[in-house]
Amino acid sequence: MSHPTDESCIFCKIVAGQIPCFKLFEDEATIAFMDINPVNPGHALAVAKGHWPTIDVIPPEILAVVAKTAQRVAKAAMTALGPSGVNLLQSNGVGAGQSVPHLHVHILPRYPGDKVRLNWTYTPGDKVEIEAICARLKAAL
Ligand code: 5GP
Ligand code: ZN
Repeated sequence: MSHPTDESCIFCKIVAGQIPCFKLFEDEATIAFMDINPVNPGHALAVAKGHWPTIDVIPPEILAVVAKTAQRVAKAAMTALGPSGVNLLQSNGVGAGQSVPHLHVHILPRYPGDKVRLNWTYTPGDKVEIEAICARLKAAL
């Protein structure tokens, strides 16, 4: 299967075997490997083999395979590491904190007392504003 590639992309180099990784799994469309800067023990990445930077440009059938690989790794983390929970995180664009523009899902095991901060507090929204934004989103679907 041929994939789009970007020769300057670190994840394309990992997919091509040009730089090493601690590989967990691969299939035709995806690869999973350990994050080299783990936020917590077991931090791993499920990565499309092809170079699609973000969620809006990856073919949906490939995204579905990335989700399947992320589920497989998350289940392995639950079985092997016994975390208190697992977050899946996928960032799009520098404004969302994406540092590698090649689509990937973080599998992030969580442990009691860890210092990871992904949580926000709940403040009820303005229903008029929520409904207006809902309408704008529906018009773009
Ligand atoms: P992002 O910030 O794009 O959501 O996540 C990129 C992730 O890729 C980061 O967690 C970073 O540690 C990881 N990363 C960057 N370069 C490499 C590398 O060369 N090898 C591996 N295994 N992970 C990398
Ligand atoms: Zn790439």
